[in-house]
Amino acid sequence: MPMTRAQCLEADKIDPLARYRDAFVLPPDTIYLDGNSLGPLPKAVAGCLHDTVVEQWGQGLIGSWNDHDWIGLAERLGEKIAPLIGAGPGQVIVADSVSVNLYKLLATALSLRPGRTIILSSEDNFPTDLYIAQGLTALLGRERCELVILEGSRLMKAIGANTAVVMLTHVDFRSGRLYDMQSITQQVHDAGALMLWDLSHSTGALPLKLDAFDVDLAVGSGYKYLNGGPGAPAFLYVAARHLGNATQPLRGWMGHAEPFAFRPGYEPAPGILRFQSGTPPILSYRALEAALALWDNVDLDQLRDKSVLLSETFIELVQASEVLSDFVLNSPREAAERGSQVSFAHPLGYAIMRALIDRRVIGDFREPNLLRFGLAPMYTRYVDVWDAVAHLDGVMLNREYDTPEFREQPRVT
Ligand SMILES: *Cc1c(COP(=O)(O)O)cnc(C)c1O
Repeated sequence: MPMTRAQCLEADKIDPLARYRDAFVLPPDTIYLDGNSLGPLPKAVAGCLHDTVVEQWGQGLIGSWNDHDWIGLAERLGEKIAPLIGAGPGQVIVADSVSVNLYKLLATALSLRPGRTIILSSEDNFPTDLYIAQGLTALLGRERCELVILEGSRLMKAIGANTAVVMLTHVDFRSGRLYDMQSITQQVHDAGALMLWDLSHSTGALPLKLDAFDVDLAVGSGYKYLNGGPGAPAFLYVAARHLGNATQPLRGWMGHAEPFAFRPGYEPAPGILRFQSGTPPILSYRALEAALALWDNVDLDQLRDKSVLLSETFIELVQASEVLSDFVLNSPREAAERGSQVSFAHPLGYAIMRALIDRRVIGDFREPNLLRFGLAPMYTRYVDVWDAVAHLDGVMLNREYDTPEFREQPRVT
């Protein structure tokens, strides 16, 4: 039996994470289930940006690079993210976008496995991950780099003596399916290859253990569960054991050992700092810094427990509803195999999601027919889940999706 609305309200009352909700700006009468695409605004961000613009930039001018340690932000924010992904110090920096970081780290992986040429990935990986690998392949040519993409279940058997790196997204962006990080990383290592995890849909949603599982390389997003703002900078992780030899192709001055020596030749900065390229966008970094401060005392096991109960409740409520009987669960039914989102297939998915958003229940739509709901445990309440499914019932009962307006897709879905 799924929870009743009264039981959801009870669960919210005793939720140890409930106090975090108040740290966010969440518009009234809105149920926000898209924090896996763009996290909501933490209240602390506006003040931090105001101070950064008016004081640090306005009054401090160029001196703020030192006086407010703008120059150290990439490293400082990396150290803040490290405990969220199970990384010890010196292995994480904030830089660029996930796409750009993938480019850097795929090239790093190839250089760490000389003689091996294959990047292996899954065909349902996030498209940018595949496009970036295609771009690197086009640049290097087939003798030096080849992208092989396969259906997920065939991947492990395909790893061979020519595989340099396996690149996978830990939580699938459509289905929310969660890969077994430890077992896959182990199998990839057994074949002598490196493992690169994309943590975009995992970081801030569940505990991660990169060091403990011997992961080689990873990237992740700043604007999803970390709530760093639209286009927030991303992060990258390189295991300490690789840092001595690791190089990357986007050799900008910010990754130089002495950027202000202005010498013509590139010499890499020590350690993880060499994975920086150009000047960081400080306003975006400062927004992310304010957002990351929320994570200081979050118990990630508690976060995961709540995430599991939220998604179980969502699935049980949908499956118990007669009007929703033609919604097909597209996420694993086993909680242990799911991240913090659920998706359902329905032939009218796009129009249904538009009608739901019209009721201020904000999820999103993914091609070809998926309604996707992110259940960010930091600020989503059990009662939000209950109310969201009740709204979905209402949309279907009243055929609110059946209007010409809701059939047209805008540029961002
Ligand atoms: C969101 C997401 C990205 C986004 O990449 P950007 O370059 O930061 O826009 C990449 N990969 C995955 C798996 C994602 O979920």
